[in-house]
Amino acid sequence: MLPRNANQPKASLPAAAPSPAVLTDFDDTAAVQNVAEMLLERFGDPSWKQVRQRFREGDLTLKEYQEIAFRQIQADRATMQAFVQENANLRPHFGALWDYCLAHSVPMAVVSQGLDFYIKALLHKEGYPQVPVYSVNTRFTRRGITYQYRHTNPGQEHLGNSKGLVVDQYRQQGHYVIYIGDGRSDFEAAERADLVFAHKVLAEECQRQQIPFQPFQDFGSVLAALRKFRANGASAGAATESRVRLGRPRESREFGSMHEEGSR
Ligand SMILES: [Mg+2]
Repeated sequence: MLPRNANQPKASLPAAAPSPAVLTDFDDTAAVQNVAEMLLERFGDPSWKQVRQRFREGDLTLKEYQEIAFRQIQADRATMQAFVQENANLRPHFGALWDYCLAHSVPMAVVSQGLDFYIKALLHKEGYPQVPVYSVNTRFTRRGITYQYRHTNPGQEHLGNSKGLVVDQYRQQGHYVIYIGDGRSDFEAAERADLVFAHKVLAEECQRQQIPFQPFQDFGSVLAALRKFRANGASAGAATESRVRLGRPRESREFGSMHEEGSR
């Protein structure tokens, strides 16, 4: 027998606040330095700057620029990793943010157009080897470095990985995505994220495109926003940003063909 009130509508429960996730760019953001350029400066063929110029002028995609520039490097993986560990460092409070995320089951990951071996070298040196990394996967072979792209938009494989795709994946899992970045390749991620921390070219671009953002200096402010979000929900997390969803972002944002001011 059915209970007496079985057919009566149940009182609706308050909607649960979405669970946050933190995604950060690597070069010039999680890392203080542009580690890719440091490596090219130290180990690359001097022509790498001409290749970068072609990229900045729109003749090459970021994927093409990176593959061509790194292909000319003769140094092996271990040598470059040691160089990174000696000369690069993570931006302040990255570790505190990671520890907080770990303690509260908040997903946090690095999302980069850069190469896995140097990102992992720095994370390892700083004591955070377990941070998930979405980047270009490399293999060092006798014929040089080969590249694998596992996060491409269907039909846009020629552009390499898409940071926007990664943000979409987290949002589809119901996460409120906090994104931190500095360069043009971050733009497609920023326009999809729920809360954006931006500096340098990304901040200028967000301003131009009227995408709300908070200025980024280090991960202390990100941690503060995350704490606030967990305490009060989205309204507090985006206290200064009444974020209006832009819907599906403009397609074919070919970040590789845009002019990039020395940052990725
Ligand atoms: Mg960057």
